[in-house]
Amino acid sequence: MVTAYIGLGSNLADPQARLRRAFAELAQLPQSQLLAQSSLYRSAPMGSQDQPDYLNAVAALETALSPLALLAGLQAVEAAHQRVRGERWGPRTLDLDLLLYADQTIDLPTLTVPHPGLYERNFVLYPLAEIAPGLVIPGLGVLGELLARCERGSLLVIEKTSRIRAD
Ligand code: ATP
Ligand code: MG
Ligand code: MG
Repeated sequence: MVTAYIGLGSNLADPQARLRRAFAELAQLPQSQLLAQSSLYRSAPMGSQDQPDYLNAVAALETALSPLALLAGLQAVEAAHQRVRGERWGPRTLDLDLLLYADQTIDLPTLTVPHPGLYERNFVLYPLAEIAPGLVIPGLGVLGELLARCERGSLLVIEKTSRIRAD
């Protein structure tokens, strides 16, 4: 079993209820267990500003799935939320990104780990720090240092987690 971190995002069709449901669905992935879930954060959209604000969160998952099997599982959950791929960074019901997989660096056509946007995205780094404050990120260093260089901006906690550790 390894620990993987998943970034969740939604800005369509009741994002708050949707992210809550997505945590439950992550917990149902085969050979996997939800270890922790962050609070829900509101963030300004990347890409087109002509779309609703996003809700974001991060989950820690203990899993025996391989990285590609986990990615396939995440994409199946996205598809179950009627995710339609339109313009890059356009509005979506649910985005599930594989942020980290153990201490591995992965560079495949369909999977880059650590996730390429991780180091500069406040809506990833702040929720990640909530559930894994001492994390060391392969190739990027300690999370606290990335956080110190990343402005919190307009990021807002809209629902505080009641279960940082899901045991
Ligand atoms: P971003 O990756 O910048 O957050 P996005 O999440 O909107 O953008 P998607 O449309 O969800 O992008 O994914 C596009 C492709 O990215 C997927 O088909 C997937 O194969 C690939 N991909 C590469 N690395 C990862 C990763 N770490 N997690 C999820 N998808 C990834
Ligand atoms: Mg994404
Ligand atoms: Mg994605």
